[in-house]
Amino acid sequence: NTFAEIDLGEALNLNIRRCKYVKPTPVQRYAIPISLAGRDLMACAQTGSGKTAAFCFPIISGIMRGPVPQKSLRGARTVFPLALILSPTRELSMQIHEEARKFSYQTGVKVVVAYGGAPINQQLRELERGVDILVATPGRLVDLLERARVSLEMIRYLALDEADRMLDMGFEPQIRKIVEQMDMPPPGVRQTMLFSATFPREIQRLASDFLANYIFLAV
Ligand code: AMP
Repeated sequence: NTFAEIDLGEALNLNIRRCKYVKPTPVQRYAIPISLAGRDLMACAQTGSGKTAAFCFPIISGIMRGPVPQKSLRGARTVFPLALILSPTRELSMQIHEEARKFSYQTGVKVVVAYGGAPINQQLRELERGVDILVATPGRLVDLLERARVSLEMIRYLALDEADRMLDMGFEPQIRKIVEQMDMPPPGVRQTMLFSATFPREIQRLASDFLANYIFLAV
């Protein structure tokens, strides 16, 4: 079982080879085919399990091979990302951004990161240059939504990374506010992946509210 056997699209498969990823980790081995098949997913994954690639690869592949978006107007004030990756902290967001950027090289997929605790202006300028995949912390994203600088109406992929940590940090109201903005017609087009190390009742509630007919993966 190698990445060469998984058809993620030529440019992404090439980047995977360039980065010397040969064998998928267990979470990647199961999560990637599930996501490529279009199913929602809740996965148990610790740091170091390779979870970042597990949700980034299907998203990059799907955007790369999907229909050309109607609303990716470069230079517009409001931008319309196609994928959103939510993570609890600035450090984790930066790591996800780095990984996503590495693998989206020459795919035409643009990745931007926005986190709190840093000046917003640089992030706004970056967003204005266009964004397909937005990596964000919940608080900063709510700020961008309130400023109408980001619209979530085109989101096709949503990944929640370290969901248990986001709830521990008190982000549940922000997360709910964010996801509410995606629940626009046509329904059922969004694909959602929830990654968490633990599964307390609150996480199960999030899963039943945000995921549709999902597969639970514990590796
Ligand atoms: P993560 O759990 O996503 O933070 O990944 C942990 C580390 O493993 C990161 O440094 C990744 O670049 C690396 N990694 C993830 N998947 C693979 C793989 N299939 N082959 C080699 N390295 C990997």
